[in-house]
Amino acid sequence: MAGVTLGDETASLLQRLIRLNTVSPPGNETEAARLLQAYLAQSGVEARLVAKDEGRANLVARLPGAGGPSLLLVGHTDTVRAEPEDWTRDPWSGDLVGGEVWGRGALDMKGHVAAAAVAFASLAREGFRPAGDIVLALTADEEVGDDLGLSWLAREHGELVRSDFALNEGGGDRCVFGGRTFYLCGLAEKTIAPLRLRVTGRAGHASMPALSDNALVKAGPLIEAIARLEPPRTLLPEVERFLLEILGEVPPVEVALERARALHPLAALIVEPVLAATLSPTMIEASRQLNVVPGSCEVVVDCRLLPGQAPADLEPLLRAALGKGDWDLEWLDRLRVGGSGSPLDTELWHALQSWVDLVEPGARLVPTVCSGFTDSHYLRMSLDTVAYGFFPLRAMDPELAAQLVHGADERIAVADLADGVDVFRHVSQVLGESALTPA
Ligand SMILES: [Zn+2]
Repeated sequence: MAGVTLGDETASLLQRLIRLNTVSPPGNETEAARLLQAYLAQSGVEARLVAKDEGRANLVARLPGAGGPSLLLVGHTDTVRAEPEDWTRDPWSGDLVGGEVWGRGALDMKGHVAAAAVAFASLAREGFRPAGDIVLALTADEEVGDDLGLSWLAREHGELVRSDFALNEGGGDRCVFGGRTFYLCGLAEKTIAPLRLRVTGRAGHASMPALSDNALVKAGPLIEAIARLEPPRTLLPEVERFLLEILGEVPPVEVALERARALHPLAALIVEPVLAATLSPTMIEASRQLNVVPGSCEVVVDCRLLPGQAPADLEPLLRAALGKGDWDLEWLDRLRVGGSGSPLDTELWHALQSWVDLVEPGARLVPTVCSGFTDSHYLRMSLDTVAYGFFPLRAMDPELAAQLVHGADERIAVADLADGVDVFRHVSQVLGESALTPA
């Protein structure tokens, strides 16, 4: 591959990955897994496809090390859907325009997948012998989560993906606050804890409202009460560290958000969702017929708890806000997921900071808590892996990137792909290095 940089190699692999439509459902990730398997084979890597559902295979490969700390490079090959009419280009074109590769999944997260595959393949063909095993897992079914991807793999085939450390999505943005540069590293996630509010009334003919008791109308003020609820704020250790790094001190929780906002609006956007639990009413169901007053109304609320919080911690506050009335609430236990975290200041943390030191001396790695959910949760819970979210974006503005993920005109700069390969190679090379050096 003389003359072709690793960035170009990644861009070309990403173009091919984007052109395979892996929108989930139905996913069809096996096509992506086969493409990646063939790509890795060119560098002498024997990758294995492991599937619970034939059409939705996961790929795993291993570069054996010398018994030191193992590292898993992980990413998902499925994407969310795209509405072509909202896009400037075909979402599955994989066009390379002005140094950017366009298409659904460029940022979330086929770009990351391509960079991990290229880092792994390039190390393999160079004959690199890592301190600990380097494992590559490019998995299906992250966006919907039907237990065909990493959740299943970690639970049923733990031996294939077990590792001391893992790098996944959910961080890496480069932010400049107060003239200083920071790289976000995702350490923990909130818990998704949905709940259902059921309001009861009495059904009747819509032409004579006085004779019935409209549950939909009664739900109105209750929905407003939920939306107005302000659960108590608290500073998680990760948030304290973030504030310490960007502000030089940890402010009291009451003024933390204002202090972050005064420094930079983006700093406030990072801090706000992880100061407290949040409650967003998102779905409602009442009468199915125009002329029937609903006798019951169900509202589903997307509630996100802080790591370490349980529904019981929030429930008294919620009940008090709703007051007395004809309602009951139910936590949807089978939909509850997330809430895991990994420690700060580990060997992986230092390896990432050492990469930041190389590319941008003086810049600091700072921890973030993700308000969403990633597959890192399954690695932490099933296999006790220290899993971080880190894929650096230096060429693209983090606020633009946030709009493009799951949005229209998703694209990624080739320069950012090159950085991704670089950081994965760097971490693979330095992790466990000290263990290899004779004392
Ligand atoms: Zn993703």
